[in-house]
Amino acid sequence: MRYLSTRGEAAQLGFDDVLLAGLAVDGGLYTPLAYPHVAPVDIAALAGVPYADAAARLIAPFMSGTIGADLLRAQTEAACASFRHRAIAPLSQIADNLFVLELFHGPTLAFKDLAMQLLGRMMNDVLERRNLRATIVGATSGDTGAAAIEAFRGLERVDVFILYPNGRVSDVQRRQMTTVADDNIHVIALEGSFDDAQNILKRLFRNAPFRESVRLAGVNSINWARIVAQTVYYFTSAVVLGAPHRHLSYAVPTGNFGDVLAGYVAKRMGLPIDRLIVATNANDLLARALETGRYEPRGVTPTQSPSMDIQVSSNFERLLFDVTGRDPAAIRALFASLDQSGGFDIPRGPLAAIRSEFDAHSVNEAATTDEIARTFRDADYVLDPHTATGVRAARARLAVDPATPVVALATAHPAKFPDAIERAIGARPRLPAEIAARLEGAERFTVLENDAARVAAYIADRARAARV
Ligand SMILES: *Cc1c(COP(=O)(O)O)cnc(C)c1O
Repeated sequence: MRYLSTRGEAAQLGFDDVLLAGLAVDGGLYTPLAYPHVAPVDIAALAGVPYADAAARLIAPFMSGTIGADLLRAQTEAACASFRHRAIAPLSQIADNLFVLELFHGPTLAFKDLAMQLLGRMMNDVLERRNLRATIVGATSGDTGAAAIEAFRGLERVDVFILYPNGRVSDVQRRQMTTVADDNIHVIALEGSFDDAQNILKRLFRNAPFRESVRLAGVNSINWARIVAQTVYYFTSAVVLGAPHRHLSYAVPTGNFGDVLAGYVAKRMGLPIDRLIVATNANDLLARALETGRYEPRGVTPTQSPSMDIQVSSNFERLLFDVTGRDPAAIRALFASLDQSGGFDIPRGPLAAIRSEFDAHSVNEAATTDEIARTFRDADYVLDPHTATGVRAARARLAVDPATPVVALATAHPAKFPDAIERAIGARPRLPAEIAARLEGAERFTVLENDAARVAAYIADRARAARV
């Protein structure tokens, strides 16, 4: 399988190189030349198959030409071994035709573990095969950083630098990053917002001498391997609920558009998904874009669902690429307009194509709290605030179409956000014991000002790949 950049000015690459590259050198995102197709009989055959097996079957066509089936199977199995639930991603029903897909049973209690545990193993394997070291720099709004740190800690071939917006992640999220003692892990509290951190990251990737000197690799949600890994739970959950014979919709708490894009890819692969419902918090860029056709970031508003406090949804570019007929010049023009005038208008045809598959709902703070309380009252089930936005959006869809089941993705464990839960239901959820114990350790991090050159120097001083 070969991959091309959405901006059309970077070389086509194979899976291993896309895995290491993250962002393409032209600022675009890698996307496969064609989506592999999974026939209905092969979807049906996933019934009762362990998650690690299903993952290996679904991911293999994206990696064709790299490693063999046995090694991939060993990687998916090892990734699954770090989860606390045997089903990996179990479903719970909370109302008629309304299901929650629990994606929070991994080591950092958020859905990012599902992709990251696999990504860490895949990257280490490629680097070993090539006898190289790499440097991972990630920007996190909370959960990606912890997930990357857990996936890469102690690995000999990779140093990890994680930038998070100082003071804008929850206590648990911060401690999950800062209490890890491994020497290859470096946590940077940036004096700025998540978008500032993401901008610095983009600048580091565009700085070719720097990128090459530390062999920069990306693990943010633009990394194609993460998207692929996330398609798996759409398939496994749909099969449990009757796919390929029954259509379902999915409601997805959304920030960078990675998770919901994986649903879109699963649909392109042949999974019978009806609607993909984008749930945003008060940071409603995508809801506005789908409603008005204008993609126009505004400042970030801090909310009780910080992992969705994002104003640029990077993966949206991959959807735009498809709906514009895979025209890189069109994508370059849209993003040039974003850089120059702070926004762009999605052309009419592409907008109609997006609306034919996606809904979007913005869920404000009061409605989020109300949804946590309501689901607790009605179903005795505690939603985290991110998941609550998805469940709220799912209920809105069910009000329009009560006959098609909706699966809301539960992207975090409620115990990561105890203050929000206490506000809603008057009680604080407990962390699983083994996780609580780990967070007791001493914290280790460095505060840096919002300055790309300063961050680059910090990394260059410490990355082992930079030493000869
Ligand atoms: C990252 C994250 C999201 C947003 O996912 P995207 O792929 O960035 O859209 C939602 N909820 C939680 C808990 C997250 O960690």
